[in-house]
Amino acid sequence: MAHNTMLLLLAICGLISTVGLTLSPADLLRPTAASWGTRLLLRHAETEPAAVDFGGTTRYPPLAVLRPASAGDVATLVRSAARLSSRPVPVSARGHGHSINGQASAPGGVVVQMNSFVGPLRRRMAAPVYSASVGGYLVDVWGGELWADVLNWTLAHGGLAPRSWTDYLHLSVGGTLSHAGISGQAFHHGPQISNVHELDVVTGKGELVTCSEEQNSELFHAVLGGLGQFGIITRARIVLEPAPQMVRWIRVLYSNFTSFTRDQEHLISLHGRLRFDYIEGFVIVDEGLINNWRSSFFSPGNPVTIGSIGGAGRVLYCLELTKNYGRHTTAEEVDEEIEMLLQQLDFIPASEFITDLPYVDFLDRVHKAELKLRAKGLWEVPHPWLNLFVPATRIADLDRGVFRGILGNKTGGPILIYPMNKHRWDERTSVVVPDEDIFYLVAFLRSAVPVLGDTTKSLQYLNRQNQQILEFCDSTGIKVKQYLPSYNGRAEWERHFGPERWERFLRRKAEFDPSCILGTGQGIFRPVS
Ligand code: FAD
Repeated sequence: MAHNTMLLLLAICGLISTVGLTLSPADLLRPTAASWGTRLLLRHAETEPAAVDFGGTTRYPPLAVLRPASAGDVATLVRSAARLSSRPVPVSARGHGHSINGQASAPGGVVVQMNSFVGPLRRRMAAPVYSASVGGYLVDVWGGELWADVLNWTLAHGGLAPRSWTDYLHLSVGGTLSHAGISGQAFHHGPQISNVHELDVVTGKGELVTCSEEQNSELFHAVLGGLGQFGIITRARIVLEPAPQMVRWIRVLYSNFTSFTRDQEHLISLHGRLRFDYIEGFVIVDEGLINNWRSSFFSPGNPVTIGSIGGAGRVLYCLELTKNYGRHTTAEEVDEEIEMLLQQLDFIPASEFITDLPYVDFLDRVHKAELKLRAKGLWEVPHPWLNLFVPATRIADLDRGVFRGILGNKTGGPILIYPMNKHRWDERTSVVVPDEDIFYLVAFLRSAVPVLGDTTKSLQYLNRQNQQILEFCDSTGIKVKQYLPSYNGRAEWERHFGPERWERFLRRKAEFDPSCILGTGQGIFRPVS
């Protein structure tokens, strides 16, 4: 057994025998101190899954994996790891392991597997509570909970739902809050980090701290979008709204990029009743079907090809919108509103595709695609994804240089593009976004699926293309910021943050994780003795 693990285990065992773990009898899942050893996994077969992630291109084996059964477990581990002052042990929280470049790993340290709770939801979550000060309901959830389970729980308790989402719900609360958590609702509600009221966080010193806007606010803002650098989120209090019942899902096509982005930006400026609830979009570069794995909204039985709508050889842009209904609005009322909204847009005539489906099915749409891809063996393949926040004033340059340039008719997967309003993002959080009132997410969601005789689907090809895109932005002065960032070395990170934010990031790190043991998989800091 490696030296560090031995030390760590000794430290933990010491803590257990001298201090003891604080156990709550209310939680049946919480183990006794004696079973601690069964939750610290050391065998290769047990730790190996934590060495890899959704990206599928890195492998950073930890020495151990902890399956915590309470916030106290996490605090005990972190305190012990930080106390080994001669050789502090890295500790990283891992949600669902859906990072791309090993960000949730802890090379040579301990991965805290936050989504390891099993058993019924009622053992893990409390019922939503009404808050008069917020004027709505809030729910407290464990940091490793999947958003899909949060949704199931809140729907079953008062027909409620979080209001800001990611496109895919099998991601953990702590994982998305460590980045931002964005989807087509962000233009109106802000990212998920703008929809949290309170957190419990285990800092890098092993202290369990409750924080919010009012209480320990520096830690609260540091952790949100904080890339796992300042603490491990063990509880999040999330804002809810009455869940809509149905969704009308609309897609319209554009061949003119200026009209496409003008319409997107117009729609995100609407905030009264007459607005859409979700606004996204995607770029269609590849020849052939305009379906993609994210959703098969265009029916496979009645496939739509670029050729069939007169777009052969061209890049097309699909605007994707939804309008919720069913609680206080009928389908007929929604018809009228949608008509009024669509009249304001400049898409290709007769390129509307409209369908209705239950709200939950809409939210869970990517999981359905996942199941199909899994069945074909196409889910667990390398994913060289590149996600960029692009200032609105330069989005047309990206279109010219990348969608209609570098990509050369092959994308390797869906490309999402949608704008967001910066005023819905809180400057005090750690996330980095462009310095403009409106910025776009442009997400190149590629899968490397080698096909004999077609090199454009290889990992090497797609990685090179990602590099070309970044170099293009650099050379043309498009000040993009990576979302779910991945950089090589301190200098690149410093550039990502910019001088002021970097200085604040360093100050927060020194305050909340002085031994730099947390989140080493991000490659920003190394443990200091
Ligand atoms: P992990 O990958 O396990 O962890 C991510 C980071 O957070 C790591 O640094 C980790 O150490 C840290 N971390 C994890 N848990 C905690 C915790 N409790 N406390 C503190 N730090 C923690 N993102 C979007 O914003 N919008 C989308 O629509 C979207 N769609 C996606 C679709 C798919 C199919 C996939 C694979 C990813 C998607 N993502 C999206 C990206 C997603 O937000 C990231 O993968 C994110 O890392 C969440 O994944 P996770 O919960 O598995 O976290």
